[in-house]
Amino acid sequence: MSRIVGIDLGTTNSLVAYVEGGVPRVIRDPEGRALLPSIVAYTPDGILVGEPARRQLVRNPARTIYSVKRFMGRGYEDIQDELCHCPFEFLASADVLRIKVGDSAVTPPEVSAHVLRALRQRAEAFFGEPVEQAVITVPAYFNDSQRQATKDAGRVAGLDVLRIVNEPTAASLAYGLQKLAQGTIAVYDLGGGTFDVSILSVKDGIFEVLATHGNTHLGGDDFDRVLVEWLLADIRETHRVDLSKDPEARQELRLGAEAAKCRLSFDDRTLLTLPFEGFTYHRALTRAEVEGLIGPLVEATLGPCRMALKDAGLTPDRIDEVVLVGGSTRVPLVRRRVQDLFGRVPHSQLNPDEVVALGAAVQAQILAGGITDMLLLDVTPLSLGLETLGGVVSVLIPRNTTIPTMAKELFTTSVDGQGAVDLHVLQGERELARDNRSLARFELSGVDPMPAGMPKIEVTFLIDANGILQVRARELRTGKEASIEVRPTYGLTEAEVARMVEESFEHAEEDVNARLLIETRTEADTVMTHVERALAQGAGLVSAGELAGIRGALQALREVRSGQDRDLIRERTIEVNKATERLAEAMMDAALKGALSSRRADEILGPK
Ligand code: ADP
Ligand code: MG
Repeated sequence: MSRIVGIDLGTTNSLVAYVEGGVPRVIRDPEGRALLPSIVAYTPDGILVGEPARRQLVRNPARTIYSVKRFMGRGYEDIQDELCHCPFEFLASADVLRIKVGDSAVTPPEVSAHVLRALRQRAEAFFGEPVEQAVITVPAYFNDSQRQATKDAGRVAGLDVLRIVNEPTAASLAYGLQKLAQGTIAVYDLGGGTFDVSILSVKDGIFEVLATHGNTHLGGDDFDRVLVEWLLADIRETHRVDLSKDPEARQELRLGAEAAKCRLSFDDRTLLTLPFEGFTYHRALTRAEVEGLIGPLVEATLGPCRMALKDAGLTPDRIDEVVLVGGSTRVPLVRRRVQDLFGRVPHSQLNPDEVVALGAAVQAQILAGGITDMLLLDVTPLSLGLETLGGVVSVLIPRNTTIPTMAKELFTTSVDGQGAVDLHVLQGERELARDNRSLARFELSGVDPMPAGMPKIEVTFLIDANGILQVRARELRTGKEASIEVRPTYGLTEAEVARMVEESFEHAEEDVNARLLIETRTEADTVMTHVERALAQGAGLVSAGELAGIRGALQALREVRSGQDRDLIRERTIEVNKATERLAEAMMDAALKGALSSRRADEILGPK
């Protein structure tokens, strides 16, 4: 029997896990890392995934795709509010969203497939055998197209996606396996790009999702963004330089701001040092300062929490356990506010980055038949219905209905002698069809012409365990039938998926050596860029002899960089690093001195 792995396909980071001896475990890469950054870079030398892609983000911003999960299963109109924050370009088109990469374009599921394939290869290397089946998690708020797009990505990566599971549900499974007997839980998941809160009940080993709410545009990325904006303003003030239009500088700031934010989860104060063209920016940041900046974003998570409680018909004191999920729940302010709202200390025994993947692995084990005493119920995130006379929506399946589920309703015609009936399937909470999301249109034709109101058309909505909808219409007098599996408006066509699967086979044949060569070259490029920048600023800090040494090492590396000899490139990269040790030290000393004198400027400006 083939193994089934659990995958957390995150906005920021992705992980793969499996269950061994009843215990879920995350599979690490050879360097011991559990998190694979969900970043894919299209370089002239080839495609990079994960850490190597992240490392060259600064040099290749327009072709390095991150946070692609935000775009899964969405259309060009859906994403207008995102465009100004994005360093990569989209192609305006009516159907599937495409991201411009040089002269060609890729779809979000194609990009995600690279991440999934990397995780699959990691698992295959770990087990020493092929891995072809997976359970993949998605935010509870994902609609049908977004779930389909995730399944498509799995297929392109050569994975049979057996089940799509809501992330908070997976997290609760990971905890449930360990200890929960009975009660009501709130799962608060604040990751890099999305926020979800779910209210679950657990009884006798059965999980039920009572309600879910959230915001697919709120997470640690937004913390980083407000921090970057603040730093840009500070740089304008202190250095009289405007870096806001410089994409490389912005990316550098983004990475620096994120690292500082993470350090401030553990320390009260941290020092940010960033070399730019012509000057080095350094700034002491306190936790209180950053809390002041991200405070409104943290506050914005509390509304959805209250709404989920309301939907579940509960008050905060009825919640027995609060579970924290997602890297951003390491921020002390987040923990305090969640604790204040629910009136209890949240659970965080399991690593908040890993808990979703662990739960996905548990679900995989359930499907494999390894765990039989647990049933899993999920809910529909949005109401589903049909457009009726006057453009009004008739809801067949209300929001938060437990799935799998089925609903039937009788409709009739409004015009005499109608031979065909148009069915318009909608998703959303608004009264009027035009305000909701259009999922599909199809026609029940061949209805015998009858006076208005005579035909009896029975419409059935069927949602399977993955949350995917099938709609069937039947005219009861004649038995005429039509049905449709709701293909999302922005989904990929079968042909496109097939083409991508084919292309992925070509990639699979790609030599491991070729990939390693690309990574080595990328590393060399990073080092060269940094050293050149350091030379531009710090040349005066070391002796002429040392300078000549550095320039010589750089030149030697430049000569072999585009060659085929990986070991030689690596060797010369190490040489460059060695040659610049003294320069790096001298620059660090200078930066520290600068930081001490900038403390005064800091106090004059006052905390904001
Ligand atoms: P996603 O589910 O969106 O992929 P993760 O759960 O992996 O995201 O969380 C990623 C986010 O967590 C990033 O924004 C990252 O900066 C943030 N993060 C990770 N560690 C810390 C930390 N120690 N303090 C604050 N934020 C953190
Ligand atoms: Mg997550």
